[in-house]
Amino acid sequence: MIELSLKQLSSQLAGRKISSVELTQLYLDRIQQLNPEINAYITLNHALALAQAKAADQRIANNEASPLTGIPFAQKDIFCAKGWRTTCGSKMLENFIAPYDAHVIGKFNQAGAINLGKTNMDEFAMGSSNETSYFGKVQNPWDRTRVPGGSSGGTAAAVAARLCAAATGTDTGGSIRQPAALCGISGLKPTYGVVSRYGMIAFASSLDQAGPMGRSAEDLALMMNVMAGFDERDSTSLQREAEDYTRSLAQPLQGLRIGLPKEFFGEGLGADVGKAVEEAINQYKKLGATVVEISLPNSKLSVPAYYVLAPAEASSNLSRFDGVRYGYRAAEYSDLADMYEKTRAQGFGAEVKRRIMIGTYVLSHGYYDAYYLKAQKIRRLIAQDFVEAYKHCDVIMGPTSPSTAFKLGEKGDDPVQMYLSDIYTIAVNLAGLPGMSIPCGFGANNMPVGLQIIGNYFDEARMLNVAHQYQLATDWHQRAPQGI
Ligand code: GLN
Repeated sequence: MIELSLKQLSSQLAGRKISSVELTQLYLDRIQQLNPEINAYITLNHALALAQAKAADQRIANNEASPLTGIPFAQKDIFCAKGWRTTCGSKMLENFIAPYDAHVIGKFNQAGAINLGKTNMDEFAMGSSNETSYFGKVQNPWDRTRVPGGSSGGTAAAVAARLCAAATGTDTGGSIRQPAALCGISGLKPTYGVVSRYGMIAFASSLDQAGPMGRSAEDLALMMNVMAGFDERDSTSLQREAEDYTRSLAQPLQGLRIGLPKEFFGEGLGADVGKAVEEAINQYKKLGATVVEISLPNSKLSVPAYYVLAPAEASSNLSRFDGVRYGYRAAEYSDLADMYEKTRAQGFGAEVKRRIMIGTYVLSHGYYDAYYLKAQKIRRLIAQDFVEAYKHCDVIMGPTSPSTAFKLGEKGDDPVQMYLSDIYTIAVNLAGLPGMSIPCGFGANNMPVGLQIIGNYFDEARMLNVAHQYQLATDWHQRAPQGI
């Protein structure tokens, strides 16, 4: 049962081979057994999950099921879910019970999907290894001494360990794609504005985007059908006609033009990762694709530009955590200013504080032009590189991450090394483009390697087609970690 695709699960439920209550219980039992060590979930709520499953069974009995009805998912703990503790991986929100549903959660609920629990993540989605979470590190199911990637590390580990059928993530600079790569699963960051950010706790609002994480491109397409769509509660949500993201899955790849950015295959790329990616490209050639070399000359500036812009936005977004409205408040203080200071000093972890300080600095009078404004200009140049590249190709491919999963603790005291984990993913966020990662083999220490597929604006259906055709020809996405 735990190896079935969403489509197969749906037909099992429709054929009454299993009930949603039984399926939900099966996952809850697995979670109880494996989660104490893997730590993929921060919060579980059996009563809420089983109540949803019961309602789903009723819906199935009434022949009112939609494709995700009765299937157990997990939700990244960045999404507010009514009645659920929603922590964003922070002590600041340790006891925060969300009073309303995020757009994404509401959509899953409407579809009759089950929420098994809230998955672990880097604090306020700041990190690449899930080690900044207040709720502890997450183990990579492929090797428990290694990181699952971040910030959607709990989601990636839960999907890889078969602790849910599929789950959600968010991606500000790579947080869907990088953990998907490190845990050997598939993940898609949609075009900015395709999935509403309403009720998704903000990190860097102009970059944040929610997306699906699962075992196959076909599963992601079904989830996109539920998650995407206009929402007037998010001012950056795009008003577009609804799409069926499964519509192109079966299309052959004959004539597909793949752009390979020369900057993605140079210094810094692990040889093992480079080899697996190269073999994947060869597989695409066999499927009828052609390859062109392209250049993204400004992509080397993406990490420095991002680490000005993202902290700037974060410093503003996180100012709401002041101990007054909700969340943590210091127990003892002398006056209002002291309460703010102590609350924020005690409530935020080191990485979050580092970002708030950088962000405040680059936005301050006298430095704004030199840092913030400059980074905005670089952002435009980076986006322009992609516009140029897409004159010569349909999709861009390369590695998702320069290396496979590193050891827990290995990069903990070197933030710059950690920031470089996202060297191939960040430009996509700065440009607002869609990007995905799919498993394409194994590298050093038998750890999974991810192939990144970058599309043009709103080309998600095409990218899912490109990924699906590869997954029909290979079985990397079906491999499971041992002992799981
Ligand atoms: N690793 C990057 C950061 O720390 C990206 C995180 C993300 O995409 N949420 O900011």
